[in-house]
Amino acid sequence: MRHLILSDIHGNWDAMDSVLHDVLCETFDSIVVLGDLVGYGAAPVQVIDGVRRFGDKLSIVRGNHDKVVAGIDEGLGFNPMALRSAQWTREQLEVADRAYLAELPPGPREVDGFLICHGSPIDEDQYMLSERIAAESFEALAFKICFFGHTHLPGVFSSARGVVEHQPLLGEEGRLSLLPEVRYLVNPGSVGQPRDRDPRAAYMIYDSDERLLSWFRTEYPIERAQSRILEAGLPPMLAERLARGV
Ligand code: ZN
Repeated sequence: MRHLILSDIHGNWDAMDSVLHDVLCETFDSIVVLGDLVGYGAAPVQVIDGVRRFGDKLSIVRGNHDKVVAGIDEGLGFNPMALRSAQWTREQLEVADRAYLAELPPGPREVDGFLICHGSPIDEDQYMLSERIAAESFEALAFKICFFGHTHLPGVFSSARGVVEHQPLLGEEGRLSLLPEVRYLVNPGSVGQPRDRDPRAAYMIYDSDERLLSWFRTEYPIERAQSRILEAGLPPMLAERLARGV
């Protein structure tokens, strides 16, 4: 099966739209979304509509921002900027869209023999930022491959013979053949708010028959996403950071 893997779109329709122009959605058997549809960006309605249009092909888990916007989590760990954008987002959404977010399932879920989650497979809100944290998940669960998001940093943790290593996925595109004897935790990076100093939208394609992972970065009209944020009266920092990829 060919899977399109998207994560952390964060209300950035301009980035998502560019990704969808880059790929031919019809050529995928499945589309996986690893949470955080909303928060930070100023086009949440368009993003939710876009995700819903994936229809039967969609496999999705909720992210921490989805929970706060839906009102099922208070966002106690959120900084003032994140809270402000969650509150603004909530005001933009119709009841049906809020309900859609509230009903998104928590991770981990199984899709085509692999797991999907937002933070980590043992804690949907955990930031998987080190080999030590990744090792906890490799030890706790018996998955071979798990896709996760939340950190907005494209990369692969691999575990072989008890040793966990991290490889950041850099550049405009690349490929990685997954070895049957190695276990993987894979982050496709963020569509709508990259944080690895590359402002281009990140996404991934996984071919489960070939065990082939391909990652991509694509340019999008950042100024358009920035204007929406400024026009909405959201903190200007949310617009500025998009240009720097932080
Ligand atoms: Zn996020």
